[in-house]
Amino acid sequence: MLFSLRSSTPIIFAALAAMTSQGQAQTADETARFGQLERVFQTATIVGVPEIADCTLSGGSTAKCFKITVVAAPSDHVTGPFCPRTIADTAQDGGTWFVDGEVRDVDGDFIARLAEVYDDDAWQMHDPETGDVYRRAGEIGCLVAGDPTNETGQPDNICVECELGYVGKTVTQTYFIPLIPVIAAGTGDRIGPNSGIGLAFNGVKFDAPAPLDLILGGHTLGPFDDCTGHINPHTGYHYHGVTEGCGARVAAAIEGHAAMIGVAMDGFDIYDRLNSGGAEPDGLDACRGHEIEGLGYHYHANRTAENQVIGCFTAETGCSTDDPDAPCDASAPQRRPRP
Ligand SMILES: [Zn+2]
Ligand SMILES: [Zn+2]
Repeated sequence: MLFSLRSSTPIIFAALAAMTSQGQAQTADETARFGQLERVFQTATIVGVPEIADCTLSGGSTAKCFKITVVAAPSDHVTGPFCPRTIADTAQDGGTWFVDGEVRDVDGDFIARLAEVYDDDAWQMHDPETGDVYRRAGEIGCLVAGDPTNETGQPDNICVECELGYVGKTVTQTYFIPLIPVIAAGTGDRIGPNSGIGLAFNGVKFDAPAPLDLILGGHTLGPFDDCTGHINPHTGYHYHGVTEGCGARVAAAIEGHAAMIGVAMDGFDIYDRLNSGGAEPDGLDACRGHEIEGLGYHYHANRTAENQVIGCFTAETGCSTDDPDAPCDASAPQRRPRP
């Protein structure tokens, strides 16, 4: 939509306010979507103010993106615990982990029985004399969580945890989410190792799948807390699954439909897995999306233990980065994955 100088004064102001730094006004649909996203992300801990920014999406399309910088920590629930201290600790003292497609409590007993759980006698994550769990916590835990392959002399069989207080700085994440999704060529974009899946309304990233093979290959665990999130010094606190009762929800515009929990990196909304009747919607596509009247196309979250919040992206994705000043070119090669 073009704004004429003969328009009434408030419209001119609105148009100017909606200009991007590159100077090109967006469409009315983009403006409306921006206002909607600004409202639903009020529950995040926002740094600065959200704006409309030019972005290059994963398929090379140029678009207008919702740009928001958030503190990478949940605004509405505590984080941890992650690793139990001893093999006598209960589920309240530890977090969770994915085993064979199920969410398991990482309590002391789980640590004690790892060799059995993974059918591999090389697992021994506690001191047989004292029952103490072998952990890497504090600053060193964050170092290992940020780069599990890099610590020289790192022993096998450690439970790694990083807490926000030991990261040494406030981690922020800056997101560029397309205001109007640009449908991807082909059958849907794969979820890359470093793109992230989306952003929850409480400011937490839905991250790419945790690299379980890499972690387990070193006989290590990087437990999630009971909200299926954990921390590394690059991404801050992030989720690997959607968990009931964790994080802000926005009621759907349709009665009985699952509540909305966040927005995917391709600009489509993500809703809870189950509708209010307790059933998963029929007819979801491979990306776990469907289109229904009143809500348009949207995703429903996977089962928590699938380690991947949605199946794939239907549209081209924007960017997430820990550099608040970086531009967004999602078509550029990705960096290596992080836990
Ligand atoms: Zn739905
Ligand atoms: Zn992770």
